[in-house]
Amino acid sequence: MASLRRCLPVFRMWLVLATLLVGAGGVTAVASAATPGGPHVPPGQGEPNRSAMLSYDEVQAELVAIEARSKGTVRVEQIGVSGEGRALRVAYIGTGDTRVWIQGRIHGNEPYGAEASLAFLKKLAAGGKHARDLLEEITFVIIPLYNPDGYEAYIRQDTTHRIDLNRDWGVDRDTFDLVNSVRAGQGLPQLPESVFDNYTRHRAVESQAHWYLWAEFLPHYMIDLHHQGTYYSGDSDDMTTFSMGISLDPGMLEDEQWDAVRQMAVVAADAADRHGAVNVTRYPYINIPEGVTSASMLNAPGPDGEYAGWRTNAMFFESRGGIGQKSRGYLVNQNVIGLWAIAEAIAAGTLSDVDPDRWADIPARGATITQCTKFPQQCAY
Ligand SMILES: [Zn+2]
Repeated sequence: MASLRRCLPVFRMWLVLATLLVGAGGVTAVASAATPGGPHVPPGQGEPNRSAMLSYDEVQAELVAIEARSKGTVRVEQIGVSGEGRALRVAYIGTGDTRVWIQGRIHGNEPYGAEASLAFLKKLAAGGKHARDLLEEITFVIIPLYNPDGYEAYIRQDTTHRIDLNRDWGVDRDTFDLVNSVRAGQGLPQLPESVFDNYTRHRAVESQAHWYLWAEFLPHYMIDLHHQGTYYSGDSDDMTTFSMGISLDPGMLEDEQWDAVRQMAVVAADAADRHGAVNVTRYPYINIPEGVTSASMLNAPGPDGEYAGWRTNAMFFESRGGIGQKSRGYLVNQNVIGLWAIAEAIAAGTLSDVDPDRWADIPARGATITQCTKFPQQCAY
């Protein structure tokens, strides 16, 4: 959910920072293990390396190829078209009664959600006992590219309205009142009526198509794949590579939901930690009812004010920024590890055995590692 403005200084700063850390003897085991030969972006390169990322056409070709190779286990479907007329395609796999939704690239300049969801789909489609066990219990819908126009333009928003598609699902009166009641409990001022009126509510066709898919599929679980800027882990000198996020205050959720989303985060964090090259943190507190994961948890209304009568357990992953060719492999892989671990726990029925309070033990995401840290006058937020 990182904004481009926050992300961009990182790319220029990373070499300087890495040099400083080396000079201070502070380079971390995690950073060096994960990215031998770092820095992540060559000096002077202000933009991430697009050639390391799958284009819209390449994602479509991958989907077609995976479906063709799968001998009928993967079904690709077009659910609509983007504002500029690009096909919105999703893949289904599995026969289980539990339904899991995975989405990537809702923010067009946060690329590897597409690569990670396709890698996860390929791993499932490749067969083998582990995959078969998951697919007997779970039916997945996998959305590699939620915002194709935004990706091709390499901006966060869609290109038709320039709105954030992760702030464009419906918010009804009850939910808005709940937000204000949570704020009152925290001693915060009430949000004015203008905030309620200004929610965009499925203005974009991408939001409409995906809401109807959600209302038809009714996922029990959802994981949304993002990138953030580059941050420290807590107050350490370690760089976090991977944050676990929950997009609502617990006061917005039923108790079972709050437990389930924390359990998902703990399972994914444990798996990533076991992998070794990943440094996991807890994404900061947010409470955004208009986001997709939030709205899916809140039985949010659709484009015509209709209700699906459903509450998903939804959370998100945030991979670090600084996304050059060298870091692509481990950034994609940490997402696949997290997704696989959650799916395994769901399929095995062990997710509910996890202690949800361990969520609080995941280290908090620390300060931003950006040029702004050193030169705040250059960053007029
Ligand atoms: Zn994002």
